[in-house]
Amino acid sequence: MLFCISPQNELIPVLAARPDLHRITDLPLHPNIPLDTHFPYSKKLQTSLEGKKLLFEEINVPLEEIQAHYLKGYCDYHPGIMKNNSKSICLRCGNKRPDFFASFSCARCKRACTYCRNCIMMGRISECTPLVSWTGPPTVITPCPLEWQGTLSPGQQYASSKIVEAVEQNCEMLVWAVCGAGKTEILFKGIEKALELHKRVCIATPRTDVVLELAPRLQQAFPAVNVIPLYGDSGNKLKYSPLFISTTHQLFRFEQAFDVIILDEMDAFPYSADETLQHAVSKARKQNSAMVYLTATPSKSWQKKCQNNKIAYVKIPARYHRYPLPVPRFVWCGNWEKLLNRGKLPERLLVWLKERLSKDKQILLFLPKIAHLEKSKSILKKLESSVETVHAADPHRVEKVQKMRNKQIKLLITTTILERGVTFPNIDVAVLGAENDVFTDSALIQIAGRAGRSDKNPYGDVAFFHHGKTWSIVEAGKQIENSNKEAAQKGMLLPEAGE
Ligand SMILES: [Zn+2]
Ligand SMILES: [Zn+2]
Repeated sequence: MLFCISPQNELIPVLAARPDLHRITDLPLHPNIPLDTHFPYSKKLQTSLEGKKLLFEEINVPLEEIQAHYLKGYCDYHPGIMKNNSKSICLRCGNKRPDFFASFSCARCKRACTYCRNCIMMGRISECTPLVSWTGPPTVITPCPLEWQGTLSPGQQYASSKIVEAVEQNCEMLVWAVCGAGKTEILFKGIEKALELHKRVCIATPRTDVVLELAPRLQQAFPAVNVIPLYGDSGNKLKYSPLFISTTHQLFRFEQAFDVIILDEMDAFPYSADETLQHAVSKARKQNSAMVYLTATPSKSWQKKCQNNKIAYVKIPARYHRYPLPVPRFVWCGNWEKLLNRGKLPERLLVWLKERLSKDKQILLFLPKIAHLEKSKSILKKLESSVETVHAADPHRVEKVQKMRNKQIKLLITTTILERGVTFPNIDVAVLGAENDVFTDSALIQIAGRAGRSDKNPYGDVAFFHHGKTWSIVEAGKQIENSNKEAAQKGMLLPEAGE
């Protein structure tokens, strides 16, 4: 899309190719047009655009209508790519890395046109691609009562009240809650408070699985709002709600949109390793807003921030059912990789598996690499005919996880993809090759946290089979034991639950 300038200095988008037209990137900053409060603006456009910056192609409204809103002060145009001393910046994803930009000979602007490769999955954004924003009045948010009837554990209760405070006062805080602490429920009161104060809320997470799992639970708790899940192909990108649940990727489209952002699983891949996703989250916040970070396994640097009072934080060391976390056992099993290559598995692992299967327990078995999955499956087929494997790129991943939930699969072999975000009520967990680098201390804590999650089956067995203990293995065990100790000291465990 190219522009010409009216005598009144307004931008006019033009579809035809003409020599007098400009790319948005090359235009000087243009003055804001004052809002004409008598203009009968389109609710549809407001819904689609509020708090966002979108490409023309993304908005399902004719160009003439967008331009009419622009001329009355209800929309604005922005460059997508900016150049500063020949260095490019993508204003959608914040990418600044030169190797993540490329140029092509553009049919529209008839010259070499730089585009961003980092966010290309959301539609190509180049020097002649404007972004459109809403500058009209915001949607009025109506309060919505919480319909959830459950009760919170003492640890949950404390965290919940702190979140309410953060929402009221627009503060930042970290909730460090062990796996199975019941993170979702502690958010409810804070969300209710936000809606009561006419605030717009987003729960963001790096993982689509988490979006899919949380959306129905939030909808149930707040039946009067339309909870909108946003992920790769959710098809919801033009919908409006005061309550979104979104992958961090989808936040690239938002700007100054939310009064409250709750970032779940902040230490999970890819968010933790991708600066542009971190940029997306901070860009989506309003200047004056609350930010709640949520995790069971904060990184070392975040743990330090807590210790040095650099951020307000609450720790919930106990699970919602008030039984202690299962403490992993470390079992040395020799060179298992060599054995596996010869079509065998360590005897100690086999004994462990047989014992569980004979008791009709379901098992998650974690292995370091995809290459290990099929090999071990063919060996374990003799032990358990329902054995299956799953990994990140598995097209049947969702079905297999569902089958595990339905107990049609008794033994599921997986990579770290299932280390978090999934809950099976009654499983035992083993890791083979726990010494591998992919099993960081946080990964191992998360894996151990899959066991004993339901109050009907609060105990679970966790075994780390290894060929040499690593720092991560020892650290994971230590942290789990520390949480149990802290929970006991604070009286957060049931008296009969014991150690
Ligand atoms: Zn970009
Ligand atoms: Zn171009």
